Amino acid sequence: MTEPASTHPEHNLGAFLAHAVVLEDEAAERYDELADAMDNHNNAEVAALFRKMAGYSRLHRAEAVDHARQHAGGLPPLKSWEFHWPDDESPESANLTLSHYLMTPHQALELALQAECSARDFYAGVAERSELPAIVELAREFAEEEGEHAEALEVWLKRFPKTQDDWDHDPDPPAAAD
Ligand code: ZN
Repeated sequence: MTEPASTHPEHNLGAFLAHAVVLEDEAAERYDELADAMDNHNNAEVAALFRKMAGYSRLHRAEAVDHARQHAGGLPPLKSWEFHWPDDESPESANLTLSHYLMTPHQALELALQAECSARDFYAGVAERSELPAIVELAREFAEEEGEHAEALEVWLKRFPKTQDDWDHDPDPPAAAD
């Protein structure tokens, strides 16, 4: 009789990658929504940033699926209740309750930053708790990537500070740059 594989991300590579796939799915979806919100604000620049970030999430997701196929016999078919998230909630979904169309660029960037930081902390936590080198190495790598996303958003937040939250009254909005 074989023991069922652990569904804990720190104990099972497949389970870890299944968690990563959910995180990236949610990140991509969130960035799409934030990009739509920025389109509604006629902020093409921040909308383009978010669409680029959504693209990175989908790329990262594909890499996780690929890694699972090559090194873990594919993704385990985890049920929603078999995931192990901090606070019983997937980190990146934590803040998706705001009404997006009212969001300023500053608020949208803040929300994206929080999600990137939770994702980074999730991966860093797994790297810290896991005793399996294959998981530790990958979790560290993912934590680093999320940290880079967070840093990029912090730079953007400096360009769209809170004091500019009434920017939509700007009679001369910035030109749509790419
Ligand atoms: Zn990210």
